[in-house]
Amino acid sequence: MGVLVLKFGGTSVATVPAIENVANKVAAEIKNGHKIAVVVSAMAGVTNQLVSYCSEINQIFNPQEYDTVVAAGEQITSGLLALALQKRGIGARSWLGWQVPIVTNDVHGKARIRSIDSPALKTSVMKGDVAVIAGFQGVTPEGRLTTLGRGGSDTSAVAVAAALRADRCDIYTDVQGVYTADPRIVNRARKLNKISYEEMLEMASVGAKVLQTRSVELAMKEKVPLQVLSSFEEALGSDLPGTLVVDEGDIVEQEVVSGVTHSRDEAKVTLRSLPDVPGVAARVFGPLADASINVDMIVQNLSPDSKKTDLTFTVPRADLPRTLEVLKAISKDLPGTQIESSADVAKISIIGIGMRSYVGVAQKMFKTLAEKGINIQVITTSEIKVSVLISEEYTELAVRSLHTAYGLDHES
Ligand code: ASP
Ligand code: MG
Repeated sequence: MGVLVLKFGGTSVATVPAIENVANKVAAEIKNGHKIAVVVSAMAGVTNQLVSYCSEINQIFNPQEYDTVVAAGEQITSGLLALALQKRGIGARSWLGWQVPIVTNDVHGKARIRSIDSPALKTSVMKGDVAVIAGFQGVTPEGRLTTLGRGGSDTSAVAVAAALRADRCDIYTDVQGVYTADPRIVNRARKLNKISYEEMLEMASVGAKVLQTRSVELAMKEKVPLQVLSSFEEALGSDLPGTLVVDEGDIVEQEVVSGVTHSRDEAKVTLRSLPDVPGVAARVFGPLADASINVDMIVQNLSPDSKKTDLTFTVPRADLPRTLEVLKAISKDLPGTQIESSADVAKISIIGIGMRSYVGVAQKMFKTLAEKGINIQVITTSEIKVSVLISEEYTELAVRSLHTAYGLDHES
């Protein structure tokens, strides 16, 4: 029987009874004959609390010490789950990031995993002991603690699954899987049984916050089959009750559009009457990149007289004040340019690998929105995604109408 990696998120280990429930799931998978490594998050809310302790001391904190503080939540849950397993007579031990070791680069607060080369971990798991690994944590080659960015335990789990050549990585959370749309908005949203890595990546990056984006990138690269499932249901991972994230080739019946997502995390900026000369876009986006502001949708209009043009783009809403500051500084060198901005926008996206082989998919989106009288402000497309920016007040209406238009509503 093969190796399974089970990852439990913050709500799944939020209390001692929840941890006991997790131990029961692990015990049942062992009974099924699997060898198990578990990756745990901190108890729900703990990481936020630790982050706020840091900013209470100083708004601008030293990233090395920040990591030392925020990595602590996962240490507690890994020890507690090991205790709960031992109580059931199951051989188990906790592994902190540095003990594995999960070696990362030194970008503190957002470190990237370089390698997991751990003969000790492999031997322990193969012997039948459960390895309870603290997610989120890493260590630099110099021996300093790092963390993998918020939501990073997902990435820890996939990396461990790749290192152990696991048959599957089950991500236990508080939802039953990946949905065709946010069920809080669309009550006819359906749980998807399977989705491709590419689609999941697009969904993760446009606001479906089930998995950390990096974990999906890594799973795709290392070909680790993932499953997203609920830890609050009876069914075990081996019953495959959740959503499988797999290679496109493993999906037999491909829908044209698999999901409709929305994000209210963006703001729109327009620069009016920019000089239409070579190098202007570079002069605008260079300083924004230097300020680590991630620009997303971009449109530049044609200028009728080839002298002036308008440039519209979106940035994360939280970065809007900083963006305007940067733009004000550069606009001194761009006489006549006006800066406009709006945070009352939402980005609505349709996603599906079926789009590659069908025509008229985007057109249906535009027509559906037009019929509801919703104005489209910006459009961008990729091979498997079409996104539009609309006024935020129409978010729900847009998502619901598109969900129906693409035949995603469940029957009853
Ligand atoms: N505890 C960390 C966080 O809240 C990592 C994780 O849960 O994935 O971001
Ligand atoms: Mg998470």
